[in-house]
Amino acid sequence: MRKDETIEIRWHGRGGQGAVTSAELLALAAIAEGKFAQALPSFGPERRGAPVLAFNRISIDNPIRIRAAVTAPDIVVVLDPGLLSITDVTSGLKPDGTLVINSSKSADNIKSELVGSWKLAVVNATAIAREILGVSIVNTTMLGALIKATSIVSLESLHEPIQERFGARAKNNIDSCTRAYNATVVAELGAIGQRKQKAFEAAFQAEPLLKWRELPIGCVVAEAGNAKQYRTGDWKSQHPAWNHQKCIKCGICSLFCPEGCVKQNEEGYFEANLYYCKGCGICARECWTEAITMIEEE
Ligand code: SF4
Ligand code: SF4
Repeated sequence: MRKDETIEIRWHGRGGQGAVTSAELLALAAIAEGKFAQALPSFGPERRGAPVLAFNRISIDNPIRIRAAVTAPDIVVVLDPGLLSITDVTSGLKPDGTLVINSSKSADNIKSELVGSWKLAVVNATAIAREILGVSIVNTTMLGALIKATSIVSLESLHEPIQERFGARAKNNIDSCTRAYNATVVAELGAIGQRKQKAFEAAFQAEPLLKWRELPIGCVVAEAGNAKQYRTGDWKSQHPAWNHQKCIKCGICSLFCPEGCVKQNEEGYFEANLYYCKGCGICARECWTEAITMIEEE
């Protein structure tokens, strides 16, 4: 990092994954090192699971006065691999930029899906977070990958902000961050880059939104996933499976599902719309006949 440059970072995550927290922790670590830094969130009224953005600007010498979204980032960090098929994460990324991706795929596999000329860093942050934190929230884990790829701050500078933010859970978050730092594979500059436009367009066939004029005044949209163009269940790490032998069709699972995505089928049994199920496991916990089992996503 040159003293006179301002590095701009764009985080891609989903509501609930902690992209905004990542940006804040990074800014605090940079400030602790005596740098200028800012963190900005960007999200609309979407619910948990919808794509969200967060931004950082970091500079050694330059006070940062701009307060706008980052549109031409030096670094892009992708917290959720599912976002690669629904949004162009490389939009505006500078030609010598860096792409840091959470994925269970190898760097070579990801390279083959993209064309361009950037630096690529890949880590299976979901697996690391699940093992160390017990949940697939990858914000602190991906900070380790970002630092490995860019050295934008030191790992040690993150410890205090993480300690202050997470308290008793700080040690596990630091461990997860450090594990990701060591596990991140950084590929040479080469044949990676912008997603092929055709593939992107094919993947981004959004379902039409309900038009506001069609809604009766004062109603609540009861359909699962109000922002229907976003398949907000894409990032779940487990999903419910029903055992009809044990189900007495009481509907409790449907009543408790916070996403409103459990519906009764024609035979009277209940099932989840997995496009919007977040894998929270509440239905399985509330089912008093133990008819629901949570199964890990592959
Ligand atoms: S709560 Fe359990 S028993 Fe009741 S409908 Fe749901 S799956 Fe069936
Ligand atoms: S795991 Fe169950 S309660 Fe949670 S979102 Fe999915 S269907 Fe709803």
